Amino acid sequence: MRVTADSTTCVTSSLCVYRVPDVFDQDAEGRVVVLDADPPVALQHEVLRARRGCPTRSIHVELNGVVVEDPASEAPAT
Ligand code: SF4
Repeated sequence: MRVTADSTTCVTSSLCVYRVPDVFDQDAEGRVVVLDADPPVALQHEVLRARRGCPTRSIHVELNGVVVEDPASEAPAT
């Protein structure tokens, strides 16, 4: 898994940090920082949930070199 996040679109909601604090943190302005870009398998499900739950789609994930995308109709997870 490869995790990246776009701090320029992050709206500092903290949802990803609450969900996976070993992988996501926030800088002094509250914008997302990725702590672990290659998280262990045990955290990958939660990382995917955090990606879906991000209100601005600022979290991006690749699995085995393939970008994880949602169907256009899928609502963000809560
Ligand atoms: S869930 Fe999205 S908007 Fe909220 S802090 Fe994380 S990256 Fe930023």
